[in-house]
Amino acid sequence: MKIQSEPIGSIPRSPELIEAILSNGAAGDLEKLYEKAVAETLLAFENTGSEVITDGEQAKSSFVTYPLNGLTNIGEGGMRIDFEDGHFRQLPVLTKGPFRFARFAEQYVGYAIKRTNCLVKQAVISASALSLIYPAGGLEGYSQDEFISDLINECEKDIRLCLQQGAHKVQIDFTEGRLSLKLDPSGGVLRHFIDLNNLVFARFTKDEQQKLGVHVCPGGDHDSTHSADVDYNSFLPSLFDLNVGNFYLQLASEHDKTKVLKTIGQYLKVDQRAFIGVIDVNSPRIESAEEVSDLILEAVKYIPVNQLGTTDDCGFSPFCDDRSTTREIAFAKIKARIDGTKLAEKIIFS
Ligand SMILES: [Zn+2]
Repeated sequence: MKIQSEPIGSIPRSPELIEAILSNGAAGDLEKLYEKAVAETLLAFENTGSEVITDGEQAKSSFVTYPLNGLTNIGEGGMRIDFEDGHFRQLPVLTKGPFRFARFAEQYVGYAIKRTNCLVKQAVISASALSLIYPAGGLEGYSQDEFISDLINECEKDIRLCLQQGAHKVQIDFTEGRLSLKLDPSGGVLRHFIDLNNLVFARFTKDEQQKLGVHVCPGGDHDSTHSADVDYNSFLPSLFDLNVGNFYLQLASEHDKTKVLKTIGQYLKVDQRAFIGVIDVNSPRIESAEEVSDLILEAVKYIPVNQLGTTDDCGFSPFCDDRSTTREIAFAKIKARIDGTKLAEKIIFS
């Protein structure tokens, strides 16, 4: 028996790459840097002993904006997301219909799969996150209903193309889930988000849904969060209504981990697996394998071990210009996850 372990997605970009991106380097030069960055990331991932890896999202502008880069019908000034430390990120806004992705995540996973023997997973953005780019005042000649219909088609295509490329899993990033309860404590927006994402998942068979997963967290940018103050236990119950087989759940940075584990165990459905976060990506301290193993041993008190997996709390740099964590620390933490998961396996299955 094994306990599955998977990363979330992003790895910090090298200072050299961040510099080149921010100074708008020539396209050809950037392309070469991306290739080098992915090669280095795949190798460093392999050296951690991971079976499932990612390309580190080295060529994505961010986990949410990659399908929008290059579109001519978006502008600045969309929804603003405020973080605890005072900084914020702002989504773009759609200025004209129809809405189509400028690029699909398949290009990243297709490239990485050819360059490693490990299994490669791919993160994509949720329909609910992208739904926020439609302007509150509407768009002339392009109704919100038409936008949602196009959005669902594009999100389905984004996932399906990754599966066709051979992605081990396709993970849908849903960081706005917990945030939605901060903006609307009644849960109405959260319910709307879940229904919208389920419209995308309904396009897939039961077998395909087992290759899909949803990641949730309170945000992880510049080592800061946007919704850690929202009670996780009020968010988790409806989360498992999403029709996917896997959940990648931030946990290591929670204060009361046992309470969260109990809630997961209570609501996780029989055909679902919970990958619990055993690495706090917002802290520079490198976890020990024993510490990771201890958390897994606590988890199996509440979650059947055949439905359990481990992950990191979040990506290490969801936005490309985030310099808060070094690559060395990120990979040391990933190695702690792998070693700690193996240690727990030994104890549990001996
Ligand atoms: Zn996250």
